[in-house]
Amino acid sequence: MFSEKMLTGPALTHKTICLSFDDGPGVSYSINKGPNTLALAQYLQSEGIVASFFMVGCFIKKFPKIVQAVKDLGHIIGSHTYSHPNMVKAFVNGTDLVSELTKTENLLLPYSNNQPLYFRPPHGYWNTAISQHLNNHLKSANNYLGPIGWTIDAGDWMYWSKFDKDGAKKCAAAYLKMITENNGGIVLMHDSNADRNLIKAIIRRHNNRTLDAIKIIVPTLKKLDYQFISLDEINFLETNSQH
Ligand SMILES: [Zn+2]
Repeated sequence: MFSEKMLTGPALTHKTICLSFDDGPGVSYSINKGPNTLALAQYLQSEGIVASFFMVGCFIKKFPKIVQAVKDLGHIIGSHTYSHPNMVKAFVNGTDLVSELTKTENLLLPYSNNQPLYFRPPHGYWNTAISQHLNNHLKSANNYLGPIGWTIDAGDWMYWSKFDKDGAKKCAAAYLKMITENNGGIVLMHDSNADRNLIKAIIRRHNNRTLDAIKIIVPTLKKLDYQFISLDEINFLETNSQH
């Protein structure tokens, strides 16, 4: 079922981290520049970390082999809609949100046998009316758990300018600052970007540095004795139960 409010889980145990990545899967069209979902998933697995990837349906369709590989590496795959709409605006405009979910759900069937099916709305845009609409009209609503939120977001995509050679270092520093100030949490980053044109307009060129940043973040947090947990180790409904 879909909750009325974004689920951010109970206060995670001191120094506990859960990594999540949105908007993929994606591939890089030039060396070390751009979305690199598979390399990210491989690196995290090599570090013994089970991460969550909230994938966009139209990219799942485009890169099915990456989805399979991410699944085979033991990571959790969740739904992030089919076309990455602003659901609040789309709902007002009468867009069929049910099909945004069912299309992605059907694409994920071969790869995602995890129950519940985790869902995160694009940008975290969500409201009560949407939750009620989906619970009433989406046949498989009972299989879902969401909307899954986050507690740490340092805006990784703001560091993707090709003009900033230290983007990955700065990105890692921004995340590490937030994480250590909060003593952990659910971290939001982007292995790709669904709003390519928007990102291009803002920073002139898509140059995803999440993999490089995460290679700084993970070893640093391990040295600081942080524990990495997966999404399914968090009991979201416990502290977010509705009154
Ligand atoms: Zn997104």
